[in-house]
This record gives sequence, C-alpha cells and structure tokens, in this order.
Amino acid sequence: MKLHDTLSRTVRDLRPRDGRTFRFYCCGPTVYGPAHIGNFRTFVLQDVFRRTIELSGVPTRHVRNLTDVDDKTIRDSQAAGQTLVEFTRHWTERFHEDCAKLNLLPPHEEPGAVGHIPQQIALIEALMEKGHAYRSEDGSVYYKVSSFGEYGKLSHLDRRELRLGAAVADDEYEKDSVADFALWKARKPEDGDNWWDSPWGPGRPGWHLECSAMCREYLGETFDLHSGGVDLIFPHHENEIAQSEAATGHPMADHWFHLTHLLVDGGKMSKSLGNFHTLDQIEAAGFTGNDLRYALISAHYRQPLNFVARDKEGKESFPSLAGARQALERIAKFDAALRERFETQQGTVADSTGYDQLRALPEADRGAFAPAFEALLNDLNTPDALGRVFSAIREGKPAELSPDEALREWRGLRFVMEALGLRVPEPDRESAEIPEAVRALAEKRWAARAAKDWATADSLRAELGELGWEMKDGREGYELAPKG
Ligand code: AMP
Ligand code: ZN
Repeated sequence: MKLHDTLSRTVRDLRPRDGRTFRFYCCGPTVYGPAHIGNFRTFVLQDVFRRTIELSGVPTRHVRNLTDVDDKTIRDSQAAGQTLVEFTRHWTERFHEDCAKLNLLPPHEEPGAVGHIPQQIALIEALMEKGHAYRSEDGSVYYKVSSFGEYGKLSHLDRRELRLGAAVADDEYEKDSVADFALWKARKPEDGDNWWDSPWGPGRPGWHLECSAMCREYLGETFDLHSGGVDLIFPHHENEIAQSEAATGHPMADHWFHLTHLLVDGGKMSKSLGNFHTLDQIEAAGFTGNDLRYALISAHYRQPLNFVARDKEGKESFPSLAGARQALERIAKFDAALRERFETQQGTVADSTGYDQLRALPEADRGAFAPAFEALLNDLNTPDALGRVFSAIREGKPAELSPDEALREWRGLRFVMEALGLRVPEPDRESAEIPEAVRALAEKRWAARAAKDWATADSLRAELGELGWEMKDGREGYELAPKG
C-alpha cells in the first residue's frame, strides 16, 4: 500500500519493519463529552486504513489512546460533581457505543493516561538525565526545545519562529509561540484530587507526554506509523517526536499519516455556531451510523470534506446523509440481485463472507470490484474506490451471470464493502423489485377503486395479500410494499 507521509511530504510504500505485523498508533479522543463528526472523520478513515492493510493480508497492531486527564477533563468532571475516573468512564463508554455504530474495529490496545503515570515519569527521568528537560521553580518540568536540533522537522517550521527559552504551561498553543512545553505540571489548587507524586513534586503529566510513553510501552522505540488529524501536526506530534527521539535516540515512527479536517456547511465546526454535530443528533434525524460513515469517506483524506447539514432553505435536513443513504440503497439492490442469481439458480446458500473470511480473498476472486480495492491501496483513495464500485454496478448485468460468476462478483462487492467498513443495508422495502404480476393486480385494483367497484377492489386486495404484498392507497396513487 502507498500512503502520503507528512515527514517526507511524499507518497511512500508502507511495509512493516518486522516483516510481519504493521504496528501503528492513533491519537485518540479526549473523553470529556461526545465525539463530534469531525473526530469521526479521522477515526473512520484510520479504520479504512487498517482494514485495507488487513484485507491485503498483513495483520496489524493498532493502539489508540484515551486522553483521560487534562485541563478540560478535570474542569468538566468537577462541574459535573464526579470524580475524574467516573466522568471519563462515562464518556469512554459513550465513545465506544458511537464507534460500534460506525463499524470501527476496536484497537488492539486502548491505554489511558491515568493508567500510565509511572511510564510517563520514567520518560521524563530519561529526558532529565540527557539534558533535554529542566525543573522550574514551581515544581513543573519543561522540555528544552533548543536541546533537540531536529525540532520542527514534522511541521517544517521555520526555526526563526521558535521563541526558544520561553516556557508555556498550556497543552495547546499556537504556531507562533513555539516554546518549551510542560512535561510535568505542578499541582494547582484547581486540580482538586487529580494529582500524583513524582520526583519533582506532586502534579500531573502534560498532554504531549502520554502518547510518547504509551507508544514506547505498546509499540516499542520505533514503529511503523503514527496518525491523527492535521491539527495535531503542531505542536502535539512535533512534541511527541522531540520527547521520544531525544529519549531513545531512534526515530519514533517510519510514517506520519494526517487527516484533513471536516467542515460543516463550508465552515469550521464549533459549539457557538450550532453546527457541532454528534452521532446522536444524526440518529434523531433518522439517519444511521452507516449513512454517516459513507458520507465521511466520500472525500479523500487529504482534502477538506464539506458536510452539508442544512439545505438551501437553511433547514437542518442533512443533504450529505440523504445522498449517502441513496448510494447505499443502490449498492444493496445490486447486492440482492447478485444473491438472487446464485441462491435461486443453484440453491447455493451464500457462504460466510465476514471480515475474517475475506482477509485472504485473492485478487482474481474480486471480480469487477478488484479496481475499487486498488484505489484504496493507492494513498487510501476512498472517493475513487466508491466511484469504481458504482462503475462496476453500472456495467454489471446480474441477470446475465452464471451462478458461479454471480457468487464471485458478490464476494468481490462484499470484500470492498468490508474494506470501506460499510454495511450492506437491507434493500429499501418500498423500492424493492415488484414482480410484474403483482404490479398488474395492483393496477386492476386501482382501476376498480376508481370505478367505485369496491367488491372487486377488495378481492384484488386479498389476492395481493396472498402473494405477500400490501397496497397502500394515497390520494394521487398507491404504494406497494412487501407485507411486514
Ligand atoms: P480530540 O478529541 O480533540 O483530541 O480529537 C480526536 C481526533 O479528532 C484527533 O485526531 C483530531 O485531530 C481529530 N479532529 C478534531 N477535529 C476534527 C475535525 N473537524 N475534522 C477531522 N478530525 C478532527
Ligand atoms: Zn497523541
């Protein structure tokens, strides 16, 4: 597989350094509220990335952390009158529910910062010993940016922008104020009970530190790939590199994979603009996690994706999701047409095509859907993959396929759907194929009804019922639906 690498700014081949398992780390959520659909753009594309690697035959080791202590989690747990652990547990559970609805594979490890204080302290000690960190008067410890000659290599910062020597305590700061950053934050009254002992006094770890410590713990000194949204390139990932590489003397990761942000109605998402959408809201509007997943992968990860929530009249009707739903229904119909071909003709029951069974599906068995998977191998081009799925559907003629051919095409389609992590929905009941004979009976009944011949209309309704169809009369016309 080929993927763009932020560090070298080139599209490069990916290979596991140990020749077996591809080991990667994704910065996870801060668990102080529901994740928004922008966060999920990042997590969903990271999931498509993992699926693409695994379905191409390479096992992975996927680590994604939970930020369960920082200024925001402490502040909001106090406002909620809960302990930090109770509060973050609640939001972690909610995050997991949303992930399941979006069909995200759970990471192999999901460590939290609070559970890894000793590892973080050990890392600071290593940095102190090598002269990369210093203790300030208040008992905080700072990373000395000027001690790491390669600082700025990921974000390609101009060294002149660095204000070396100044120290900042905030976890998040702007690009123009590059400065020494906190590894350990001395205890403050507003931290309440949320502090730990350390060789430098009581306090808590700085945000950037947890990822360096957990990468080292779960993936080793150098691993295959590190990932997050573009907002993390600076300062977070730059600081992770500075911490890890200064401590170990080795490169932290071979590849850096960053995902461009989601925009909503052409702008940034923010609570004050009222466009801060969560999966809950999307479900309340009648859409599913699957619809959202489709919408989120419809643009390339290096392009901004504009999620259209409001229609032209300004009503929040989620046009992006309506489009996604239509596309999924079209796929479902094609899937059903293929299935019908091999199930009815041969009595073949479709064998299991779950994710694990499809892992080793050879390229020759992917039929017309092979090119769609190729698009994913080429810098995770999800819109191109979807385009190729629809080309195969447009050109496919299920009715002309032998049962064996239909089965192969069906597996190919399911293989690509697994790679994209999309579920094939049940075909829409209203638009399900209606047999000619049923349609003819319905027309007869509609004519009888128009002529007020109620007896005939009733007996035709009964006949339709026997065939398993229900006719719903409207003022202008009727609808046919399979009986529920
Ligand atoms: P956070 O919970 O803020 O630490 O963010 C979790 C992940 O979501 C990180 O990888 C962020 O870079 C990413 N992220 C935050 N906002 C957006 C957005 N609007 N679009 C895409 N990814 C985002
Ligand atoms: Zn991180």
